[in-house]
Amino acid sequence: MALDSTSVTTLKGVGPSMEAKLAKLGIHSLRELLFHLPSRYQDRTRITPISTLRPGDNVVIEGEVQHTEIKFGKRRMLLSHISDGGGSLTLRFFYFNSGQQNRLSTGRRVRCFGEIRGGGATLEMIHPEIELISDSFSATLEESLTPIYPTTEGLQQPAIRKLVKQALELLQQSGEALPELLPPETLLQHHYPTTAEAIQFIHYPPPEVSQVQLEKGVHPAQQRLAFEELLAHQLSLRELHSHIRQQGGPRFKREGALRQTFIQRLPYQLTGAQQRVVNEINQDLIQPYPMQRLVQGDVGSGKTVVAAMAALAAIEAGYQAVLMAPTELLAEQHYRNFSDWLAPLDLQVSLLASKLKGKKRQQTLVDLESGSSQMIVGTHALFQEGVKFAHLGLVIVDEQHRFGVHQRLALKEKGVAGGLMPHQLIMTATPIPRTLAMSVFADLDCSTIDELPPGRSPVETVVVPDSRRPEIIQRVHTACQAGRQVYWVCTLIEESDVLQCQAAQEAETELRETLTGVRVGLVHGRMKPAEKEAVMSAFKRVELDLLVATTVIEVGVDVPNASLMVIENAERLGLAQLHQLRGRVGRGSTKSSCVLMYHGPLSRLAKSRLSIMRETNDGFLIARRDLEIRGPGEVLGTRQTGEIALQIANLLRDEHLIPQVDSACELIQQRHPQLIQPLIQRWIGEGLRFAEV
Ligand code: ADP
Ligand code: MG
Repeated sequence: MALDSTSVTTLKGVGPSMEAKLAKLGIHSLRELLFHLPSRYQDRTRITPISTLRPGDNVVIEGEVQHTEIKFGKRRMLLSHISDGGGSLTLRFFYFNSGQQNRLSTGRRVRCFGEIRGGGATLEMIHPEIELISDSFSATLEESLTPIYPTTEGLQQPAIRKLVKQALELLQQSGEALPELLPPETLLQHHYPTTAEAIQFIHYPPPEVSQVQLEKGVHPAQQRLAFEELLAHQLSLRELHSHIRQQGGPRFKREGALRQTFIQRLPYQLTGAQQRVVNEINQDLIQPYPMQRLVQGDVGSGKTVVAAMAALAAIEAGYQAVLMAPTELLAEQHYRNFSDWLAPLDLQVSLLASKLKGKKRQQTLVDLESGSSQMIVGTHALFQEGVKFAHLGLVIVDEQHRFGVHQRLALKEKGVAGGLMPHQLIMTATPIPRTLAMSVFADLDCSTIDELPPGRSPVETVVVPDSRRPEIIQRVHTACQAGRQVYWVCTLIEESDVLQCQAAQEAETELRETLTGVRVGLVHGRMKPAEKEAVMSAFKRVELDLLVATTVIEVGVDVPNASLMVIENAERLGLAQLHQLRGRVGRGSTKSSCVLMYHGPLSRLAKSRLSIMRETNDGFLIARRDLEIRGPGEVLGTRQTGEIALQIANLLRDEHLIPQVDSACELIQQRHPQLIQPLIQRWIGEGLRFAEV
């Protein structure tokens, strides 16, 4: 019997109501039941001497009742004093009846399980589980640690345990019930137990195993499952990669006249890192299959110009290129940049934003479909239905890594005639450490721009309480008078766009009134695109000194002359967001600074975020600290719903496994390809389906 295809309803005790509760936990098959692992354990295998107890311990104790009494205070309660000869302990009950009082009469021997609390002068247990011990009956202890499972309302631990026990019995009857999916070489190399052994062990660990190790999830039996899960994810992403690679892609040339002219006209030289990444991209673009490349680079490392080089390669080969930005504001900026860059080359650039309406939109759509427009910039509106391209050869996704599998596959439909799929270039907003990238972006080839353009000095960051606001406003004044440009960022609880805009409006009025002679502008998400555009261009042309903004300017905005940023209520923002925002300054050669203003008191987490920001400007480092604080699920899990939702593995805890998982991937692809589908099926199920594409 294969546990994977056997429903939990085949177990004793699983009727429709139990089935529904299990389904809430994601458990449908016996295999899923067995992979529903304990989150912690209790040790009921031995009796702990009372004299060795510490508050917080969950233990079995045994002793003799010295004295039981009802205490009348604010609340009536039953207290029973127990001694095992070496030490004593109080049992405390808030709910009790006379039967209970009698059971605990002086001289009785009892065995209790519960958590130890430090209760004033003595230790105590509140509402412990109790067994009476008589001469004729001596209660047995458990033989293994007792598992405690994550559960849902109305499903008690003993019930889950009973079900798991039944499933484990089936597993013991036939090892085949849960086939081994790791190659023998891998098991041997890492000294891993088989799946069946690991599962058995994790549900019922022998008493001598370290509970701390188990609860951290670092026991080899658990690591083995984490390894297998990471492996399955990585394989599925690699499958996607090879699936796309089997599609035909348009072939571009390594070099061309447009690119040459473009480079010559740039006011600066590409950095070594930019040049290297451009070469890596070019190497992809000359292949007969679609590029699938991710460019990681810190804020300000110059990703846009690298994107432009790729776009020109497409255009030179007679194709269209699109650039998709995460916000309208950024799309508008890119549109402006690309227009400035490409108009002198006689190329047509179009902007397709979701807010574009009526005749203008119609005309833009016609330009895309006829091919008269070679470069198209926009937001996700680019991939809406009804948007057709004449011959789309390259898709660039800027400042995000949330470009999911399904979106990637759907590109084929937007692609060039003849079933060719466009090349894909994805630029991250948040760089992540290399090993993690190997796992999370296993479907993409990665390039890293690991160098900032010359002449940049790190942004100096200070953290100040908002009680010093007047002083900060003065500082803004001085900076503006000295010809520097300043951002003033207003943040508010994220869900409320309206409140955030209101706060920005108020700050603008206040600053305009206080700062005489300073030209103040305002930009927020509820303004019309044309209004935003007008304000941003004025700021860029140095017709404004101070730009009051909401977090709409978070990503991508590029005004190199701006050199001071004040962020109000910085304690409300996460690390990634703060780093992105701060990246709006320090883009030119002027020494830049950032003032993180907070409204106290600070929570412990907020305090640590702000001090990390003060200590470093390194986006990779900040990403790592962000992962440690928020956990990988929060930071990376949004790549696409479900795509990297891990059940057992934890990218941070198990990061050391990733390079080994990577080699195991190779091994499986070369020597055990028959394991690929079962592994994906077991861990990801129907999550990634390419068949229909
Ligand atoms: P990113 O998107 O990586 O945050 P941008 O592409 O917006 O960065 O570039 C940041 C700034 O650096 C821009 O003002 C850009 O003109 C400038 N820049 C890019 N490459 C270079 C270079 N090689 N030398 C000097 N300045 C550069
Ligand atoms: Mg950018």
